[in-house]
Amino acid sequence: MASVRLEKLRKSFGRTEVIRDIDLEIADGEFVVFVGPSGCGKSTLLRLIAGLEDATGGDIWIGEDKVTATEPAKRGVSMVFQSYALYPHMTVRKNIAFGLSLSGAAKETVNERVDRVAGMLQIGELLDRRPRELSGGQRQRVAIARAIVREPRVFLFDEPLSNLDAALRVQTRVEIAKMHQDLGATMIYVTHDQVEAMTLADRMVVLNGGRVEQAGKPADLYHKPDNLFVARFLGSPP
Ligand code: ADP
Ligand code: MG
Repeated sequence: MASVRLEKLRKSFGRTEVIRDIDLEIADGEFVVFVGPSGCGKSTLLRLIAGLEDATGGDIWIGEDKVTATEPAKRGVSMVFQSYALYPHMTVRKNIAFGLSLSGAAKETVNERVDRVAGMLQIGELLDRRPRELSGGQRQRVAIARAIVREPRVFLFDEPLSNLDAALRVQTRVEIAKMHQDLGATMIYVTHDQVEAMTLADRMVVLNGGRVEQAGKPADLYHKPDNLFVARFLGSPP
């Protein structure tokens, strides 16, 4: 696993500045949750770290490596999206194995890892099915399995639970927390769900208009907001 460092990170689309001078250090093994209103730049920030967007300025470090200009596949990060983005024509096993197979891992190694991760997420029985034969919750677990199996240095989650019903959301949230414990993984997680953020985060970062308003332990942010924006956003007691 690895730490992540953002240095004066900036991103514009045309003339619109979406990420403005973000400086942030995320420790090895830390679970950091980004929250903030719709359009504040949460997804863009994750996409920058994943390498799916190029930064307009500043740098991104993962561990000892400056990855600002590194292609996505070589950054050692895995991203889980809100929509599952599974390949409909492939079995669950193939879906999970796809990225790993591409990287040239031996077939036995791939199968072994897929079996282990599928067991961990309790989808071992589903490996021969196709995505259309799965429930929403099962599909999201396949997407999470696909992220884990690559053994990334950093996990990125963009609102991974928002398409699930309430009960499944809680169950999958618990699984993600357990996965964090078991793997000791560095996790960067985006949600608009306050409860999700408070329960998962070692540290919470409130974004507003592409800037960090405040970062800290969830309870500290809630009880000691730096400003009115944070207080209102988190619904802090007056
Ligand atoms: P969030 O995930 O916090 O809701 P986003 O990161 O998706 O916010 O978007 C931040 C802002 O950047 C929004 O105003 C959005 O319209 C804009 N934006 C995101 N992606 C693009 C793009 N590819 N081209 C132009 N504008 C974009
Ligand atoms: Mg978003």
